[in-house]
Amino acid sequence: MTFSILGIFCMVFPFVLYAKYKERIWCKYICPRAGFFQKVIGKISLNIKPPKFFTGETMKQITINYFIVNILFIIFSTVMVYLGKLAPMIYLRFFIAFKIPITIPQLLVLDLPVFLYHLGFRVYSVMFTSIVIGSILGIIFKPRLWCGFCPVRSLTTKKKKGNSSNR
Ligand code: SF4
Repeated sequence: MTFSILGIFCMVFPFVLYAKYKERIWCKYICPRAGFFQKVIGKISLNIKPPKFFTGETMKQITINYFIVNILFIIFSTVMVYLGKLAPMIYLRFFIAFKIPITIPQLLVLDLPVFLYHLGFRVYSVMFTSIVIGSILGIIFKPRLWCGFCPVRSLTTKKKKGNSSNR
């Protein structure tokens, strides 16, 4: 789980790149999640046309709000754990709330402060949730359907006047 702390890089770096280059460099060339959807899910996708809901603005707004709530939850809960006011959540959750009753094998065990383990599990939970949802939707509909309403993409895309599409 120590490695999942590196997931913070995946959360922050797309915005750093966008701030510097004003382009979605992360989405175009780097994102490992998109690569997974394309290369793995693409092989088994049923490629059914998705309902309009998934390609509309409402879905984008829902995922942006969910992303912001997640970030706030990660920051505040990690600070509370650091201050000793909250027990660390050393387990995976689906969405923010549902504990996954599995033990994740640890590739590397380091003697880190417990708040960093809490942080690692919280970041991993966000990534895990998006990959599960994106994979399910990708298998049923288009492999990269998730990318259409991914909060990272929505927040690094300039809106064009009179055109709701930003592809
Ligand atoms: S939209 Fe999201 S999942 Fe798709 S490439 Fe960009 S960051 Fe990755």
